[in-house]
Amino acid sequence: MTRPVISKAETAPKHPAFHVIKHGQRVFLFVVATGQLTDLNDLAEREGRAFFANPSDYELLPPEPGNECFPHPEVSAPPKSVSLQSLSLAIANKCNLGCAYCYAEQGTFGGRSDNMSVVMAKAAVDRLFKDAPRNQTITLAFMGGEPLFNRQTLHETTVYAAEKSVSEKREVAFTMTTNATLIRPEDVELFQRYRFHLTISIDGIGESNDALRPDRSGRGTYERVKEKLQVLFAVPQRVFQVSARVTVTPRNINLTDTFRGLLELGFDSIQFSPLLKSPGSQDEMSVNDFDVLLQELVACGELFREGFRNRQLLPLLNVLNTLKRIHDYQPENYPCGAGGGYMGVSADGNLYACHRFVGDEVGHLGNVTSGVFAEAQEHWLTDRHLNAQGACNSCWARNLCSGSCHYEVIRRGRPACDYIRGWIYYCLMLYVDLLETDSTALTLLLGNSDRNHGDVAKNDGTGIGY
Ligand code: SF4
Ligand code: SF4
Repeated sequence: MTRPVISKAETAPKHPAFHVIKHGQRVFLFVVATGQLTDLNDLAEREGRAFFANPSDYELLPPEPGNECFPHPEVSAPPKSVSLQSLSLAIANKCNLGCAYCYAEQGTFGGRSDNMSVVMAKAAVDRLFKDAPRNQTITLAFMGGEPLFNRQTLHETTVYAAEKSVSEKREVAFTMTTNATLIRPEDVELFQRYRFHLTISIDGIGESNDALRPDRSGRGTYERVKEKLQVLFAVPQRVFQVSARVTVTPRNINLTDTFRGLLELGFDSIQFSPLLKSPGSQDEMSVNDFDVLLQELVACGELFREGFRNRQLLPLLNVLNTLKRIHDYQPENYPCGAGGGYMGVSADGNLYACHRFVGDEVGHLGNVTSGVFAEAQEHWLTDRHLNAQGACNSCWARNLCSGSCHYEVIRRGRPACDYIRGWIYYCLMLYVDLLETDSTALTLLLGNSDRNHGDVAKNDGTGIGY
């Protein structure tokens, strides 16, 4: 299989209103305002004239707004407030693993290793039911540290929220991010009864996982995780979902082997998320690592393409979420719901912009008793709006990226932009190709799949995951 090579020269921003995408012998014009992709060769043939002798001449057009052919995206003002719709509860500030890169600093969030009480978790549920618009599904996410260190709060809060949803005639969805090592039979029953969506943190197969995810005594955890997965996947008529989340560092960047291995284990979906910021900067990706990551992810994209041609869906979320976003193309001004419809709750009941900001004053936006602080949220929504992100205003990929993860941008800046644009560029080519291969199947696939990206009003906080 020849893997497309995408150069930084091709993806670097040249014009804020459009971008030229080269796909084999073909050349497309991508219009930023509308997401339209026009095949310039076809257009020239149909109209009987060459629009420009050389397609790259488009890049020479002056970048002023108001060019009739290439409308500039409309600029919308940031909202003043957004109602809560999803909360993630940091129920256990403790973990049995010792991953060096952990944003929760091995579950302690930098010092406190207390658990969230059942009373506090129920207060968070009450806050969510009170603030969320009645016609929208509420999402309750359990996180840690390792949330299974606080089994009592997990179980009692789930039952409480489920009963409340029945009495109030509202929909509630449950998710949990876990390292899986502590799962017990009663947890599996809970997942099945309440149709959880589980995200299992796993960074590779065998030693590749163990190098990054040892337990506190330094022993690898892969075999223990695998054993638990077998239990999960053996549940008859399983209705809960099990996704793999791979944190990509320079030490586990061989994605194709990992992807194949995780598919074999039986995951319902797989997502690769590069590590941009860790508390002690350990294992963070460098600019050069991002070049390798792009090649690796493109190789996984090629496996997806091959599968699609053979009528087999490979559940790679990096591809599916990006294709979905291209397919739906709606300019969105935030990369995720953080600080809007989604917030993280600390053990002591404070509300933060998302799970990664828990304990970080920069993202402190309220508490479960008084609710969201209106002024703090308004500032957040203004400061984090895409139009306030200087570099993004001239970037052709901004409506498909929406400015990148807030936490990473605030704490590290934007070292991943070439990689993000490279991946979007590849997915635009892939989208054209898959449409031509089987437009009905692609439309069905993308029409039915849930989006997971930049809607500030509703998001469970995992972002699009570039
Ligand atoms: S963060 Fe995204 S939109 Fe902003 S410059 Fe980087 S790639 Fe472009
Ligand atoms: S993408 Fe959004 S929700 Fe996810 S870590 Fe970043 S800011 Fe938080």
